[in-house]
Amino acid sequence: MEKNKLLMILEKDFPIYKKDIFRQIQPILDKHFETYCTINYKNYFSGLMLDNTDKIEKIFCVVFPSEEIILKLAKQTNKNSLIFSHHPMDWNQFGSGFVPISKRSYELLKTNKISLFVLHDVLDYHPKYAPSIQLLKHLNIKNSKRLYINGEPLGVYFDLNIERLNIFEEELKRKLNLKKLQKVIFNNKIKRICVVAGGGDNIEFISAANDVGCDTYITGIVYFRGNEYAKKNNPPFIAKAKELKINLLGCSHYVTEKFSLLAMTDYFKSLDIKVDFIEDIKSIEFWNKNIEEFI
Ligand SMILES: [Zn+2]
Repeated sequence: MEKNKLLMILEKDFPIYKKDIFRQIQPILDKHFETYCTINYKNYFSGLMLDNTDKIEKIFCVVFPSEEIILKLAKQTNKNSLIFSHHPMDWNQFGSGFVPISKRSYELLKTNKISLFVLHDVLDYHPKYAPSIQLLKHLNIKNSKRLYINGEPLGVYFDLNIERLNIFEEELKRKLNLKKLQKVIFNNKIKRICVVAGGGDNIEFISAANDVGCDTYITGIVYFRGNEYAKKNNPPFIAKAKELKINLLGCSHYVTEKFSLLAMTDYFKSLDIKVDFIEDIKSIEFWNKNIEEFI
């Protein structure tokens, strides 16, 4: 498909209406941002970030554009392809957090004619493809409502028929293929659960969950102190949960968001374009191996 045709379709189905949260993160961390990103991306921090080809023959959906994924794609013969990513950079969950694309990877993408399209906030708020919504779909939970945070539909919440948290937790681990969860538990008897996929360790988010009567809060990141921002903002989040007596269940940034990108492969298939989801197996393995130290 012609790149411009695909961009027009994406713009129609996923309209960008305001600047993305990554405008506060990417220019600080990513020192090659100015050199490689498109003018439009530098304005909105959303949409076509790297414009390296005029034709798109195949799309690769990823949660994070990790160095490993970029290397793998560069080695393949898929020229004229597009990485469709939820984030513009990788995530090191037990290290310093967001890791920008290296100069070497930016160059590899360019020489191998691989473009990069990033959809963060717009995907988070999408009525069908939002990570929180797709996570519930994977867990086979119906009858959820969207939780609005600062006017944006960032989370979802639902009532549960399983009243014991430990039973729900086992089911969660099984369905998400996780050995352990990050957790802070106050009450084993539960009724209403809020889900904010990804980085939901935020006081405003958990307060909004409390306002609609949730007693349990599922997100990707419960405990994280890997960078200065987290050192400042993560402890008050956990303190707020303690104050509100809301159980916290952390299921990893990657796992809570991957079902959205899996669902996006169906979207691209409907456009009659070749597509694959690239599983970040390392991320799950790393979580299962290292989580003990981070609970
Ligand atoms: Zn995220």
